[in-house]
Amino acid sequence: MAGKTQAKRPMIKTSPKAAPKAATKTAPAAGSKNAAAKTPPAKGKPLAENTKNLKAAAPKIVAAPAKPAPAPTAKPAPAAAKPAAPLAKAGPKPKRQLSGATRVGIAGCAGRMGQMLLKMLSQAPGVLVVGGTERRGSPALGMDLGALAGTEPFGITVGDDPALLFDSADVVIDFTNPSATALHAGYAAKNGTAHVIGTTGLDTDQQAAVARAAQRAPIVMAANMSLGVNLLEMVVEQMARILDTDWDIEVVEMHHRHKIDAPSGTALALGEAAARGRGTTLRRVAKRGRDGQAGPRAKGEIGFAALRGGDVVGDHTVIFAADGERVEVTHKASSRELFARGAVKAVLWAAGKGPGLYTMKDVLGFSVGGGTSNGGQ
Ligand code: NAD
Repeated sequence: MAGKTQAKRPMIKTSPKAAPKAATKTAPAAGSKNAAAKTPPAKGKPLAENTKNLKAAAPKIVAAPAKPAPAPTAKPAPAAAKPAAPLAKAGPKPKRQLSGATRVGIAGCAGRMGQMLLKMLSQAPGVLVVGGTERRGSPALGMDLGALAGTEPFGITVGDDPALLFDSADVVIDFTNPSATALHAGYAAKNGTAHVIGTTGLDTDQQAAVARAAQRAPIVMAANMSLGVNLLEMVVEQMARILDTDWDIEVVEMHHRHKIDAPSGTALALGEAAARGRGTTLRRVAKRGRDGQAGPRAKGEIGFAALRGGDVVGDHTVIFAADGERVEVTHKASSRELFARGAVKAVLWAAGKGPGLYTMKDVLGFSVGGGTSNGGQ
């Protein structure tokens, strides 16, 4: 099923104008969540609202049906006969469905988080998965999304065109890599599509690209989407505010052997929280790893240590060490599900929001006070 299979199976990249036809072709299998989520256009509602419903009922998809093709047992919704194209070209503005499902696309859908998200989103109420993308050359291209989620066929295959994904969806959720995410943010801005970013390791330029995009689209970016870590950030900020620089702060993290960035985005976000508590910025006080003749510890610095091994999902400890005593606060993630759960919350929250760069604290409804952590590290 690798690239070869894909090459033999030309993908139909449906242009907005071809949407009605494609929608008929790719009706999700009967009984599947996607089929169930189809919503006929509301009767007696204003045209604009009706048209939005049409879009929900007839999602433009990112690629052609996989082989074996899912049986088109689901009766095509009446909406499929009407063109949804004009609205698909609408400029940047909130795209919340006034009624019907929120259309969600997944960038990086064959990744560890992508597959988990596919599964979770396929079961989430009020959500319709309308597409998934992977990098060019990925062996997953052309596969049915259901095969990745471990569910029934979705009738939608993995594509590699982010432009189409962002045009098709109300919200795109993105757990890919920093360069892909920065590129994706441009499509979010162009279409006004909400963008939920879990990718970590973005450099300064990539973060700036996301911040620019957030002037035209709602973007939720968080290095860690779990409730526990966001609470931990709040606690760390408060502790750093209370404890003076006689207390040395060190952040220790451990992740699985496949993780490519270090320290983790979460460790850096925790460091930022501590720096905020101290009334400074992490850039000024960070000490990223020590090796050899590192010299004595400078007062006020915030140190980082990254461990890698096995299948550790993510452990983070912030140590406050003074003479004679030490306080440690720890979060341990034992399953990626908690990140996916947070991401699904963010998807539902972001749909229909105005442009802006938001964090999980906005989504979860609590604030650490004083500044934000955009989680883009
Ligand atoms: P992964 O390598 O398993 O998945 C990434 C996927 O993105 C891969 O399938 C890859 O092929 C795909 N990809 C790469 N370039 C692409 C492109 N241009 N278009 C579409 N897809 C593309 O990694 P993962 O463990 O799923 O993690 C992904 C990212 O999410 C990492 O940066 C990781 O640190 C971060 N992460 C964040 C959280 C959080 O809560 N915010 C939780 C877990 C992981």
